[in-house]
Amino acid sequence: MANFKTLDDLGDVTGKVALVRVDLNLPMADGRATDLTRALAVKPTILELAEKGAKVVLLAHFGRPKGERHSTMSLSLIQGEQERVIGKEVMFIPEVQGPVAAQAIGILRAGDVGMLENTRFWPGEEANDPEFAKGIATNGDFYVNDAFSAAHRAHATTEGLAHLLPAYAGRALEKELTALDAALGNPETPVAAVVGGAKVSTKLAVLQNLVSKVQHLIIGGGMANTFLAARGVDVGKSLCEHDLTGTAEEIMEAADAAGCTVHLPYDVVVAKEFAANPPSLRTCNVHEVAPDEMILDVGPQAVEALGDVLKTCRTLVWNGPMGAFETPPFDAATVALARTAAALTVEGSLVSVAGGGDTVAALAHAGVTDDVTYISTAGGAFLEWMEGKELPGVAALSA
Ligand code: ADP
Ligand code: MG
Repeated sequence: MANFKTLDDLGDVTGKVALVRVDLNLPMADGRATDLTRALAVKPTILELAEKGAKVVLLAHFGRPKGERHSTMSLSLIQGEQERVIGKEVMFIPEVQGPVAAQAIGILRAGDVGMLENTRFWPGEEANDPEFAKGIATNGDFYVNDAFSAAHRAHATTEGLAHLLPAYAGRALEKELTALDAALGNPETPVAAVVGGAKVSTKLAVLQNLVSKVQHLIIGGGMANTFLAARGVDVGKSLCEHDLTGTAEEIMEAADAAGCTVHLPYDVVVAKEFAANPPSLRTCNVHEVAPDEMILDVGPQAVEALGDVLKTCRTLVWNGPMGAFETPPFDAATVALARTAAALTVEGSLVSVAGGGDTVAALAHAGVTDDVTYISTAGGAFLEWMEGKELPGVAALSA
């Protein structure tokens, strides 16, 4: 695992200014946050630093203002939510650097929390401009990154600052990296990966990376159709990227060479129309899909066999649903496999780590959110990690 300092490595920080990069890019509707997950995730770090007597100054982006001020994307809109979440006053500062920021930060007392304006109001953030980063760093004594979900971007406050000040991982980032390390960095074997979702094209790099790292690659969702087609199966009207069958074959060959078993469904749930509980719904062998039918979920026999595979494994990493889970009954395979994984995790025989926007929703739908080892809500950063890429925000912490 990347070798980085954590809050455990801090000395006496009484009265010192902590510049803390957090992810407060909360989903909003009518001026209110609709989901406080991200605000909650950074709470332990903020409170721990405040309790240690630091002056805690939050840095975050919000939306895509593209280097200009937009009142609709001001972090002042999040200030009240963050106060409620941490149960503490948060002083909003409408700048990130310069005299106004310096003066406001100067007013903070030990244990106080301040929040700077949306870092992306200034082009220097996304450009990772060293002068912009210096302007921010000059007001701080040390830097804490607690925003894994922004760690795949080399921006001034996600990467640049780590080179200018003593840099530490916050508790949320530390937890995420520890979980990811247990899943793919340094896992207990055998490892199974479940990769599903709509398309092969969005997850090529993920599949290519996984074949050399896991012993079982379980492919489901729409992307399984492309692999089935590559094996000569007629997938009818199913979502299928026919131009990628060659690539699918290469991935299966690479898996063979690396000793990774690729699991494709052998029975499937099909329908002639994509609707909830359609009259044409049926389950069949993959070789019996009619030309006017679509594969919308993995079949029950395959799911049972996959559950048996998981029983032999010690580690599971999961991205992408097994079927079109938003529409019943095409959620059945995802729900069943998720519950098997959750039960094995609770029993203690499996470490299970999952991530991806729709995957998080699918696991919540299956009711297993609290029974898997770790769920990453980091989206892009999680996928880049599954692709085996080094995340600049994390790399800068260990530099
Ligand atoms: P994630 O956001 O977790 O990375 P993706 O965005 O790759 O996942 O894929 C999720 C989508 O894939 C869901 O909307 C789901 O309906 C769709 N999907 C899964 N299986 C199928 C299928 N057999 N046919 C069509 N769409 C599917
Ligand atoms: Mg998605």
